[in-house]
Amino acid sequence: MKTDVVIIGGGPGGTTAAMYLAREGIQSIIVEKDLFPRYHIGESMTGECGAIIRDLGLESIMLDDEHPQKYGVNVYGAEGKNRWFIPVMARDENNDLQTQFTWQVRRSVFDKRMLEAAVERGATLLQATAVKPLINEDGDVCGIQVRMPDGNLEDIEAEMVLDCSGQNTFLANSGITGPKYVGNYDKQIAIFSQVANTIRDGVDDPEHHKDNTLIFYQKKYHWGWFIPLDDDVVSVGIVVPSAYFVEKGESKDDFVKRELRELNPELARRVPDTTLLEPARSVVNYSFQVKRFTGKGYICIGDAHRFLDPIFSFGLYVSMKEAQLASKAIKAYFDGANRDADNPFADYQAYVEKGIDVLEDSLDAFWEQPLAFARIVYSLHRPYMIDVFAGRIYEGQPSPAALAFQKLLRRDRQYDSEDIYSVPIGSRYHPERAPIWNTASSMVRTADGEALVNYFDS
Ligand SMILES: Cc1cc2nc3c(=O)[nH]c(=O)nc-3n(C[C@H](O)[C@H](O)[C@H](O)COP(=O)(O)OP(=O)(O)OC[C@H]3O[C@@H](n4cnc5c(N)ncnc54)[C@H](O)[C@@H]3O)c2cc1C
Repeated sequence: MKTDVVIIGGGPGGTTAAMYLAREGIQSIIVEKDLFPRYHIGESMTGECGAIIRDLGLESIMLDDEHPQKYGVNVYGAEGKNRWFIPVMARDENNDLQTQFTWQVRRSVFDKRMLEAAVERGATLLQATAVKPLINEDGDVCGIQVRMPDGNLEDIEAEMVLDCSGQNTFLANSGITGPKYVGNYDKQIAIFSQVANTIRDGVDDPEHHKDNTLIFYQKKYHWGWFIPLDDDVVSVGIVVPSAYFVEKGESKDDFVKRELRELNPELARRVPDTTLLEPARSVVNYSFQVKRFTGKGYICIGDAHRFLDPIFSFGLYVSMKEAQLASKAIKAYFDGANRDADNPFADYQAYVEKGIDVLEDSLDAFWEQPLAFARIVYSLHRPYMIDVFAGRIYEGQPSPAALAFQKLLRRDRQYDSEDIYSVPIGSRYHPERAPIWNTASSMVRTADGEALVNYFDS
């Protein structure tokens, strides 16, 4: 088989890429190992994620599917009394902030719709598993080998490989990229399920909209989420240091139920009925960063090269935004730009890496200095932080808010060379520990000995 671009993964990153490539007249094959619909975590969108959906002309599908509309995020302090709110807002043509809404999505429904839309617009879907990259005589990536459902191996030749395999990090695991480092939040575990009969806010204003995301802080690295999925069902998740989970010695279900009662008084009030609608799932060690995630013949998108921390719901947006930006970079490359460069996508790589650095500084400041963070978000630099929470992290950065976070963290970002840019000096970033990843030493077990791996891997 032959195509212009082969895309590994039919999640939102892969399908967004396919749709933007189609807009540029570029052919793609999406290789997806799972049959959709399939479960996936990552249900709350940022404002700019909604903007991509609108740009793709998919708003009417979102409305038909009745995904809840999100107007903002309420973050509750440990006692459940103090709270700060960040609205979803867009910038209009005069650069003024305007109220906007985005969506909460059941990923089984949303991802399937995206895949169908990509195929309708010309992408070819191949139900298969990518097993290894193909390398040409110059040592460049020139396609992938896939295993078909009948077990046969087939080669797909392509001028570009887009790795949208999410936390499976296909190209990093194949040794094509630079090394994969554990990230700042690598010793965390997220355990999640769904509940009903919850107490939701009213609907009369954006701050108290019934479908907003609620975040409940307990203490450093210990928090919970509340994300409405329809009028009855709410996704709930508990995120803690893995050591704390092991110390509790509980099953995943019992852990979630007890934390729903104990983590934060406001969470307990909101979820009076802790009956879980489905068995709890988990993700461990989800925080990592891959160096040199672009090169001749390949680009890694979103989770396939970097994931920080789920707390403020940036994952879907980063994957979809990078897919949009990468499609433009690929079009330029196909039209002749940077054909002879060692890495034709070096500028793209620096651009998107700096955007995630803005998120990293924000998240690290939240965990290291929550009170100062709240003051910056709520009063000192509110418009800039409304931008960051929406996902406007690429242009006009570092903003005064981003610089305030760097000051709080005593962090000086260096962008001197391809290899060292983005290393946050003074943070808990620890390249010396690379390349440990998902080794036995980072395994988390329940009280009855069950090894918890990412459900992504199961
Ligand atoms: C606990 C937790 C909570 C989160 N909450 C949020 C949230 O509220 N909001 C948010 O925006 N983000 C959230 N995220 C992040 C979000 O889940 C991801 O950022 C998002 O799904 C990334 O999309 P993607 O398309 O890059 O990858 P994915 O959605 O993971 O899609 C990758 C696809 O590739 C396929 N694939 C993988 N390997 C292969 C292979 N070898 N061959 C063929 N196919 C392959 C997989 O089957 C999958 O369908 C959360 C993450 C975690 C861990």
